[in-house]
Amino acid sequence: VAKRLEKFKTTIFTQMSSLAIEHGAINLGQGFPNFDGPDFVKDVAIQAIKDGKNQYARGFGVPDLNSAIAARFHKDTGLTVDPEKEITVTSGCTEAIAATILGLINPGDEVIVFAPFYDSYEATLSMAGAKITCITLRPPDFSLPIEELKSKVSKNTRAILMNTPHNPTGKMFTREELGQIASLCIENDVLVFSDEVYDKLSFEMDHISIASLPGMYERTVTLNSLGKTFSLTGWKIGWAIAPTHLIWGVKQAHSYLTFATSTPMQYAAAAALRAPDSYYEELRKDYKAKKEILVEGLKSVGFNVYPSSGTYFVVVDHTPFGLPNDVAFCEYLIKEVGVVAIPTSVFYLDPSEGKNLVRFTFCKDEETLRNAVGRMKERL
Ligand code: GLN
Repeated sequence: VAKRLEKFKTTIFTQMSSLAIEHGAINLGQGFPNFDGPDFVKDVAIQAIKDGKNQYARGFGVPDLNSAIAARFHKDTGLTVDPEKEITVTSGCTEAIAATILGLINPGDEVIVFAPFYDSYEATLSMAGAKITCITLRPPDFSLPIEELKSKVSKNTRAILMNTPHNPTGKMFTREELGQIASLCIENDVLVFSDEVYDKLSFEMDHISIASLPGMYERTVTLNSLGKTFSLTGWKIGWAIAPTHLIWGVKQAHSYLTFATSTPMQYAAAAALRAPDSYYEELRKDYKAKKEILVEGLKSVGFNVYPSSGTYFVVVDHTPFGLPNDVAFCEYLIKEVGVVAIPTSVFYLDPSEGKNLVRFTFCKDEETLRNAVGRMKERL
């Protein structure tokens, strides 16, 4: 394997999902729903395939999808973007992140990330030869340590790669925190790459896109996808939105990474994004109920559960159960209890920072969540 990838192992999500199958454990690890996406979206994909929409799509997205993304972004943020010039459709947000980094970051450029961070960030930054500067968000509230951020921003800082609502903690950046990040970026001429794939799964507060803050659109790449909002994580439809001077780099990287994204799925994605408000309200209501079952369940089992405002994840402190670290705890949980969680140490540059924390997902039907809680109550 090339040096740039030497330190990375099989992703934790792949590892944990295969252990789940091997041990017959209930999988509250990898974040994918065990229920299906809506028919009104799937039907459009089936029809598009039947209608012969099966050859390469336009590289940066089928026009219908670019328009639907622009309309949705306008509704969410009040910003008006040109669907033909400021949007690139990608194969999932993971590709959008990679295309953004490879298209805009030079080897040696410094990029700031907040730990715990989604695992692809470090691997992709490493592929681009970026220098990673890491700032840790700490329990109980995982709030932004602004003084530390200020001290780490320098002339060499090219970008901040952030995520709100935040995987794995469920933290949502507040308007105040986003304002502090924005001021720093404007003062120091720093870009923001903002991964907002869980934006529609916000429960305790409203999601705010940093691009909508004054002076920020021109220096922000906003990244999103279809998978979480429409329970279609296997479709891998994502996108990047940015002003023309930034989207050009993203588009160039995307052109040579994948060239284009699945054509029929893009037509269906366009239909999805035009869903009425009631769809989003229903989604939030369903997830709120699931969250309640898992959070109350975990508390009753004896975990210290940290508050999660968004995403379909919660992070807990496992130390009341006496295992030495998160990996050992997750192994015990799979083998002796029959439940899968994600050890969070893989989301830190310094793994020891995550040793007390594990992540559970509640994107599962209510019965599965109740069964998982039942097993933990009985066997932990
Ligand atoms: N984003 C999902 C998670 O955090 C899964 C991602 C993956 O499997 N690569 O669980």
